[in-house]
Amino acid sequence: MAFDPLLLRPLFSILAQSAYDHPLTYLDNAATTQKPLPVLDAIQDYYRHFNANVHRGAHFLSDRATNRFEQARDTVARFINAPEQSHVIWTKGATEAINVVAYGLEHILEKGDEILITSLEHHANLVPWQQLAFRTGARLRIVPLTSNGEWEPEFSHYFTDRTRIFAATQISNAIGVSTPLQTMLDHAKQQGAFTLVDGAQAVAHYPIDVQTLDCDFYVFSGHKMYGPTGVGVLYGKSHALDVLLPYQTGGEMVRHVSYQATEFNVLPYRLEAGTPHIEGVIGLAAACDFLNAQDRLALLAWEQSLANHVYTRLHKAGGIEIYSPEKNTTLVSLSVPNIHILDLNAYLDSQGVAVRAGSHCAHPLMAQLGVAGTLRASFACYNTMEEANRFCDVLLDAIDLLNDE
Ligand code: PMP
Repeated sequence: MAFDPLLLRPLFSILAQSAYDHPLTYLDNAATTQKPLPVLDAIQDYYRHFNANVHRGAHFLSDRATNRFEQARDTVARFINAPEQSHVIWTKGATEAINVVAYGLEHILEKGDEILITSLEHHANLVPWQQLAFRTGARLRIVPLTSNGEWEPEFSHYFTDRTRIFAATQISNAIGVSTPLQTMLDHAKQQGAFTLVDGAQAVAHYPIDVQTLDCDFYVFSGHKMYGPTGVGVLYGKSHALDVLLPYQTGGEMVRHVSYQATEFNVLPYRLEAGTPHIEGVIGLAAACDFLNAQDRLALLAWEQSLANHVYTRLHKAGGIEIYSPEKNTTLVSLSVPNIHILDLNAYLDSQGVAVRAGSHCAHPLMAQLGVAGTLRASFACYNTMEEANRFCDVLLDAIDLLNDE
């Protein structure tokens, strides 16, 4: 059955407004998505009816808050097909989740060990590994894209018997390219490396099954999948989470403390120091329910058809460099020779079209593409074909206008 974004629009009242007297066209979804009413309601419901600290257990409200908080863990575990709730660790977002792993694995690294990432990585999946390499004397290595934006056919040789950690994004936030993840994960596992997948750009679009992916760690942020900001997930296999030394210590993550020593709590609490982002977690579970209620494959096909439509129109128009693939992606990333992307962005904004112009937190990738940044339009469940066409019309107007200057 075809997907109809108009059926979802009433749940996203923020989109009904005008921007500078134009209909607001929100195409910056890879940065953050808008939140549907059930997510907003879940957060309000928490504050209106059962706000209390969790796991303190001494009274009615605290019991209710704890139950809803742990139910949310179960919802998120099922959303990614984690075998058990205790595999789901709450974090502030994908960035913090990667840092939890990068600090937690520091003790396994020796000088000369290798940490392998790809050239598609967001800074969140690059800087923590680079800094870890600096601290330990390990070597950061990169599986590169070729100058055609394709993977080197012989990338297997980057995986060596010194590879201790392999971390890769599932989809590039900057150019929408997918990683040949399963093959790369197989190579990494053959070398006995720990594997981490950055799912920040995938969870809103693809049904995720961490058991099929079979990675040690999977991370994502709530705010890019219709949930609140400030909450995210670190999924890990038990043996992998067990290896992590806690990156933060304090309350909640302990069983017993004396001045001489601390006995840490069991998973997942051992890696969750301090009062958690309770309403965020509850909102994130509501976002999972919202996505689960959609026909995920029809939704993905719709988002891809919008990106493909924009690609085809702009390709035909000519004079535009497009860095994202023609098909199987939910965003379009481009630049126009001799026109600054910030000028294009300013014109689009003046017409109510919200996109992103910049380096997308991927400086090395931009350097490889030979640009300072790109202009990115990224699609979500509520975007219509009219909006995709409006982006093209306004962009082409902007190009005409700026070329004449
Ligand atoms: N990885 C990717 C691929 C991303 O797109 C982002 C956010 N743009 C992140 C990691 C970091 O997510 P957050 O800022 O929510 O921690």
